[in-house]
Amino acid sequence: MAPIVRFAPSPTGDLHIGSARTALFNWLYAKHTGGQFLLRIEDTDAERSTTAAIDAIYEGLRWLGLAWHGDAVLQSKRAPRHREVVEAMLAAGNAYRCYCSPADLEEMRAQQKAGGLPMRYDGRWRDRDPADAQAGVKPVIRLKAPRTGETLIADQVQGDVRFAAEQLDDMVLLRGDGSPTYMLAVVVDDHDMDITHIIRGVDHLNNAARQMQIYLAMGWRVPVFAHIPLIHGPDGAKLSKRHGAQGVMEYEKLGYRPEAMRNYLAKLGWAHGDDEIFSTDQTIQWFDLPGIGRSAARFDYDKLRSLNGHYIQSADPAQLATEVLARVPRLPELDPAFAGQTIALHPQAAARIRTLIPDLAKRAKDMNELASNAAPFALAGPLPVDAKAEALLKPEARALLGRLVPVLSAVNDWSVTALDAAVRTLAEAESLKLGDVAQPMRAALTGRTTSPGVFEVLVALGRNEGLARLRAQAR
Ligand code: GLU
Repeated sequence: MAPIVRFAPSPTGDLHIGSARTALFNWLYAKHTGGQFLLRIEDTDAERSTTAAIDAIYEGLRWLGLAWHGDAVLQSKRAPRHREVVEAMLAAGNAYRCYCSPADLEEMRAQQKAGGLPMRYDGRWRDRDPADAQAGVKPVIRLKAPRTGETLIADQVQGDVRFAAEQLDDMVLLRGDGSPTYMLAVVVDDHDMDITHIIRGVDHLNNAARQMQIYLAMGWRVPVFAHIPLIHGPDGAKLSKRHGAQGVMEYEKLGYRPEAMRNYLAKLGWAHGDDEIFSTDQTIQWFDLPGIGRSAARFDYDKLRSLNGHYIQSADPAQLATEVLARVPRLPELDPAFAGQTIALHPQAAARIRTLIPDLAKRAKDMNELASNAAPFALAGPLPVDAKAEALLKPEARALLGRLVPVLSAVNDWSVTALDAAVRTLAEAESLKLGDVAQPMRAALTGRTTSPGVFEVLVALGRNEGLARLRAQAR
């Protein structure tokens, strides 16, 4: 039977990069094995599980390119089924009603505390007659857990992990108000969804022991467990906001590409030799559970950024140009340098960006930088000149541009080669280096001090616009 895996996030807002890594590992495993990747939204906490929080999960997964099979399962909708399973456990004698009042439980805890004992439910209602119950107490339903022996989790990543019976008390399956507990819901859903492999964070390892007891009580097939290491910050501390962005869509806003995120997240806890860069197809081919290590992975923001630069350079130029054109209008919200500006694209923006994209892509580490560097060629209206470019446009530089304009106007063949030759001739005649002419040209043509090659820029802008920009700064 082909594996069936699932990603089971509890909606909390933006899809966290740690959760995204769990989703990716599951997706990769399904792809690698020809299995299925399912999505279950664990939305039982009504307050946190808003539509916006659930949509954020869909949005994050879609952006990362992790398509799930069929419709997402909403856990909250399955409460009747969860209750049905508890009824079956009651009927089979694997569960019982516990009529402890909150005061009873408090007293039990206080005694255990005083005796220096771990706090655990003592099983006092396991075999007691419900007729003994105090009036008005709504019973919870607890699992009749084995009192001796141990529960073994043969984890694919963590190895064999054993939990002594004394460590696990009779957990609540159904609360007094009839609502299922998380522990029960997860097992029933995983069973009903035919999940064969549970790949999730190691913070769920202790839950696995309790969940195993429910599988065994129901006589259900136990899935394979693989608990993956946590992600730490570059300093080894638990990953948090102070290290950097935490939400997947924050990375989209910061200009990261999904394929760079996939490559980077795949490397967090999993390795294929010393390889740093691998395509999604290669990852699918190579990904397997034995390649997952046990030690916590460190999130290296610099590495992610350099991978992102790699993926920008290796992206399909036509696709990249389309993405850049879509991003330029978003610059006012993405790049403080454009804050408050109204963005209007020039009618020739698409053609110009397509021409310049191979060169623009070489310099950018993120899509915002790329869009910002493309802006001088994409925007309509007067060209803004930044302070550094302005500083280059000293009176003698402006005078030089004034002598350059007629030379370029005389060039018939508006090509890189012809323009280059014309500018070189002028530079030689004036005993200047090519750069002495190119830098003021760049400042005038782009309003910046870095840009693609000035001749490529002239070609992309076309004769009229190219000469107009030079003229505008010439004296
Ligand atoms: N809903 C849990 C979480 O978001 C995951 C449960 C599981 O994978 O078993 O942490």
